[in-house]
Amino acid sequence: MKKVSDEQLKSWMEHVRIYANNGKVADYIPALMRQKPEINAAAYYDVDGSCVGAGQTEYRFTLQSVSKILALAVALMKHGEGAVFSRVGKEPTSDPFYSISKLELEKPSKPINPMINAGALAITNMMCGENSEEMVGEIIQLAKELTREDSIDYDEEVAKSEYESAFLNRSLAYFMKQNGVITGSVEELLDAYTKQCAITMNVQQLARIGAVFANDGKDMETNEQIIPEHYAQICKTFMVTCGMYNASGSFAIRVGIPAKSGVSGAILGVVKNQGGVAVFGPALDEKGNSVIGIKLLEIMAKHYKWSIF
Ligand code: GLU
Repeated sequence: MKKVSDEQLKSWMEHVRIYANNGKVADYIPALMRQKPEINAAAYYDVDGSCVGAGQTEYRFTLQSVSKILALAVALMKHGEGAVFSRVGKEPTSDPFYSISKLELEKPSKPINPMINAGALAITNMMCGENSEEMVGEIIQLAKELTREDSIDYDEEVAKSEYESAFLNRSLAYFMKQNGVITGSVEELLDAYTKQCAITMNVQQLARIGAVFANDGKDMETNEQIIPEHYAQICKTFMVTCGMYNASGSFAIRVGIPAKSGVSGAILGVVKNQGGVAVFGPALDEKGNSVIGIKLLEIMAKHYKWSIF
């Protein structure tokens, strides 16, 4: 098993940077539109506790859909598998993440999985709390434990920008409220969900989260079981089947590791028993995945024989 070398990671990053020209920064959330496409960063956090990085490794970005993994883990830990899967399904879909079509076709109306926006909203609806701050606080708490970084929080400006422009997510939520999939105030839920998506960290912190998942939910330094192994396994399975939007199948062939991406340009990857990898590059392909992120992971997966298949 070859260890990821700092020098090699830096030289691969130099090589893939140029691919940012092939993508576009997400523009449907006004605050994300202001992200600079040339920013790039990558980190690999080994389960032995060492970490290597390339690019702007201190740069903090919002997690966006990567946060769906954390929310799912919280929901599983707080409510158990039965409650979670009575709200959302387990199957992948070829629909884009914002799609409403299956909600109307499925009877009873239940989001097809927890990684599409409808499913993620249903999961965030399971966070305990009197208000959006308390609800997102549950997810932030887990992020703090996984990164061992007490300063983790959400970016108020990005959260507000998305909250004010989340017309599609609002319509998904109201549709689900009408059909009894979610309960309580839709606006409070939207507030919690957009804050969750705006949770901010750098690639080293995100890679550490990946390393804990790679270590079956157990912190490699303290040996604390932060997420029960079975729940960590469920999260990783969704990363394989639905983590890269409706490009999850081609990503599985090209790279072959559990991964979750977000429209900010972040990708979190998990290399079983070896480590966590995080890449950030805001230029996205047409499916919403970071162009340089996919390219870098493809190179690394080939070189280190990471594919689980
Ligand atoms: N906050 C984004 C949304 O709900 C997250 C989407 C994503 O990263 O895939 O539209």
